[in-house]
Amino acid sequence: MNKFLDCDALIVGGGLAGAASALSLADAGFDVILLDAGGATAEDAAEFDGRAYAVALASQRFWAAIGVWDRVAAEAEPMVDILVSDGKVDEGASPLFLHLDHRETDDGVYGYMVEDRHLRPAVLAAMDDHERVEQRAGRVTTVDYGPGRAVASLADGGTIHASVVIACDGRDSPLGAAAGIRRMSRRYQQNGLVCAVGHEEPHHGVAHEMFLPSGPFAILPLRGDRSSLVWTETNAEAARIHALDDDAYLVELHRRFGDFLGEITLEGRRWTYPLHLSLAHEYVKPRLALLGDAAHAVHPIAGQGLNLGVRDAAALAEVLSEAAGRGEDIGGLDVLRRYQNWRRFDSTSFALGMDALNIFFSNDSGPIRLIRDLGMAAVNKAPKLKTVFMKMASGVSGETPKLMRGERL
Ligand SMILES: Cc1cc2nc3c(=O)[nH]c(=O)nc-3n(C[C@H](O)[C@H](O)[C@H](O)COP(=O)(O)OP(=O)(O)OC[C@H]3O[C@@H](n4cnc5c(N)ncnc54)[C@H](O)[C@@H]3O)c2cc1C
Repeated sequence: MNKFLDCDALIVGGGLAGAASALSLADAGFDVILLDAGGATAEDAAEFDGRAYAVALASQRFWAAIGVWDRVAAEAEPMVDILVSDGKVDEGASPLFLHLDHRETDDGVYGYMVEDRHLRPAVLAAMDDHERVEQRAGRVTTVDYGPGRAVASLADGGTIHASVVIACDGRDSPLGAAAGIRRMSRRYQQNGLVCAVGHEEPHHGVAHEMFLPSGPFAILPLRGDRSSLVWTETNAEAARIHALDDDAYLVELHRRFGDFLGEITLEGRRWTYPLHLSLAHEYVKPRLALLGDAAHAVHPIAGQGLNLGVRDAAALAEVLSEAAGRGEDIGGLDVLRRYQNWRRFDSTSFALGMDALNIFFSNDSGPIRLIRDLGMAAVNKAPKLKTVFMKMASGVSGETPKLMRGERL
């Protein structure tokens, strides 16, 4: 590492939210350094490893606007319909459900499923190709948020000077904590089991979200006759199931998945993720902005965590671009507060909404089950209410940043 580097924006954390922020800021004309503790290219996995993301339509427009989508489009599977239902192990889905039908949208699609092995290398390559982005491996130890510049000291002894530091350092955000930003954190008593399966019958682009008593169980369409599963269980049950061999795991899976897609086989690796709710009280301090999971880690019930991070990146790039156009200091607190005002209420209310939904659905109480089944059936027949859910699924509700409408800055 050079002893001294200088840039407009230093992004700390090279996960997907950090990459989204780096590319959107660089496109807006800022010189960006992205620093990751693990080295941003370390996760360039070519093998299919079972992980995939639901990319909402508005996020797809964002990735297209910053030159990433062309690199993954051929590998993305459209989600044309979404079916939400209650269910029970060994019994399958209840007959009352909510159907978000592609024929009821203008766009004909709610989003796309993209495998991690395609999305991650695509963002890394886009950053490699961008003349305004410099990727580096390194760990920030301390940051001095001075009046004119922020000065980040690195573990290898180097320093980076920047007008603004963007913490994309994950759900505990050590950088945010060091700057005095407090957070509300809670570990869910649930783990997410993640894997992919092959099946005999085609999925026809339908995403299924089934609410089982121990938590949501999502079957999400991948390219070919394959689906990605995000399967929530209580911690003890998740540990037990994860420890099973593949055959026994498939038996458990089958009890929940059923046979509507014919015989299923495991593909790729199996993963288990502890689930957390983590909400930063503030998103900004002078010369510091929190973005992605660093600002808000949410339950994966609706597959929206990264979509929220992308929305942060798009909003921050728009705010900073407009501020720079007016000759303002992009690290100034008044500028950064515009980003916070745009994003904090939206993300916090979404996170708490998903938290409530998880509590409401993750139980086996007969009366509550009846209420939610009737509720889903009622929403299914109420066009205005249904539109709200359709917009949420597509990521086009609320004040949508330009990049998420497919416009350049
Ligand atoms: C089971 C499950 C399923 C999910 N499915 C979906 C989905 O379908 N769609 C969706 O939108 N979202 C989904 N999510 C959420 C999504 O995975 C996360 O929101 C997203 O990956 C967070 O990215 P991030 O870049 O904010 O953080 P991270 O990926 O945690 O990246 C943080 C980075 O910061 C680096 N770092 C930390 N400290 C330092 C330091 N001091 N110096 C340098 N670098 C540092 C780390 O090395 C790391 O690379 C899911 C989550 C789970 C658990």
